[in-house]
Amino acid sequence: MSKRKEITGVTEIFGVMGYPVAHSLSPAMQNKAFDYYELDKIYLAFAVPPNCLTQALNGLRALGVTGVNVTLPYKEVVARQVDLLSPEAQLIGAVNVLRFDQDRLVGHNTDGTGFLQSLEQDAGFTPAGKKVLVLGAGGAARAVILTLARFGAAQISIANRTRQRATELATEVEAKTGQKAVGLSLEPSELKPWVPEADLVIQATSVGLYPKGESPSWFNPDWLSPTALVCDLIYRPRPSEFLKRAALRGCRTLDGLGMLLYQGAQSFTWWTGLEAPVDVMRQSLLKQLG
Ligand code: NDP
Repeated sequence: MSKRKEITGVTEIFGVMGYPVAHSLSPAMQNKAFDYYELDKIYLAFAVPPNCLTQALNGLRALGVTGVNVTLPYKEVVARQVDLLSPEAQLIGAVNVLRFDQDRLVGHNTDGTGFLQSLEQDAGFTPAGKKVLVLGAGGAARAVILTLARFGAAQISIANRTRQRATELATEVEAKTGQKAVGLSLEPSELKPWVPEADLVIQATSVGLYPKGESPSWFNPDWLSPTALVCDLIYRPRPSEFLKRAALRGCRTLDGLGMLLYQGAQSFTWWTGLEAPVDVMRQSLLKQLG
């Protein structure tokens, strides 16, 4: 692998902005991709406190930063502050990547298409015509659900602790994509009938995240069809308890590492026009995750 060039007066600046961001795996991953091509670019982490968001966006422009990823808690609010949104960002109503085109700030979303690429490349699964069950209706679930609907998933059931959030998202999916969607609670009587018929089950709540690492108490893996592909958007720990239990049921499983990798790879390509060095980026993530 090639060595990083010296930082100079013309080194282009990229980064990730969020709050907090110290835990982000993106700086190491994106800098490895820049190094791979010996690009005179650097990627940093910008921790932006909530009352400083507008100043931060103006600051990026004023300082000549070329592009940034956007992470929690700013993905939706930044989508309302850009000059132009890509079709993907418009569909999802959130951005996870920005770039300045001349003086215009353009917002794009690669979270949903990153998950889609992981589904297709890592698990050989195409959503068109399939029945999908998503547990959760937060930001990550939104990106995944609207993207799967746009790529032809025939029926999407969304189960969430706050039922109203699930029903509102289902209504939005039907209005924006014309695909069938239904909102459910996590009550076993409501959720259970939708599980055995799902070709694809996606765990998109934050339950099971490091360090707690618990299994969702409201989900019984015995309800799963052993032919289903079961995903968890969590990549720390890998595998999650949810995926371990799905594997014991005989299901194929996919964790969230691919989504993280491909959203980053697609961001890299959107900024540079170059094919992302996916293997180098994956190695960086695996190394950081130990
Ligand atoms: P949000 O905060 O936007 O949403 C959290 C979701 O989890 C909501 O649906 C919430 O339900 C639900 N939830 C939280 N606690 C519980 C609980 N105790 N029981 C049941 N449901 C619960 O988070 P994100 O959507 O951004 O993230 C969700 C997960 O996806 C996280 O684990 C995150 O690490 C992962 N993720 C992975 C990515 C990747 O690249 N692989 C990218 C982004 C996220 P309610 O609406 O009722 O509050």
